[in-house]
Amino acid sequence: MGKRYHCEFCDKSFRNNAASIKKHQSSLHHDRARQEHYAQFKDPEVILREESQKKSCTRFMSGECQFGVMCRFSHYSPAQLHAMQMQVFEEKRRKTEEPSLASWLQKRSTKRAQVSEPENDVSTVAFSPPPSISCIPNLPPSLQPVLIKDFANYQPQSWGS
Ligand SMILES: [Zn+2]
Ligand SMILES: [Zn+2]
Repeated sequence: MGKRYHCEFCDKSFRNNAASIKKHQSSLHHDRARQEHYAQFKDPEVILREESQKKSCTRFMSGECQFGVMCRFSHYSPAQLHAMQMQVFEEKRRKTEEPSLASWLQKRSTKRAQVSEPENDVSTVAFSPPPSISCIPNLPPSLQPVLIKDFANYQPQSWGS
């Protein structure tokens, strides 16, 4: 006896030949089992979007719907959909509040700006040559006093330029 083919979705075994497998995989029962399987991993946001476009299934509400996930009507009650909406909303809020690297850097630079405020004053002198040099006229730029603001828009192309 050859090895039997086992369908994980349906938890069913049958003869392992192409015709049987094909027949099984095209069956309504298999399709439904497969969809039910994947429905477990669906994003609540996707379910919410899909379900809110469907009408409520009156047959399911009275416990008679045989279609399961294949049903074109919604099997979620308005209360369940509302609860799901809250869950999605809560999840989004939690995600946006999670500390990100960007927000951490932002916080850090704000803190630093507060601590080193005097240094951030652009008119502060960052370098001034000794008095014996500063009295010489037409000093080269490298020996002239340098203000913080001289650095503010400075974009070095390479060192020394
Ligand atoms: Zn199957
Ligand atoms: Zn239904």
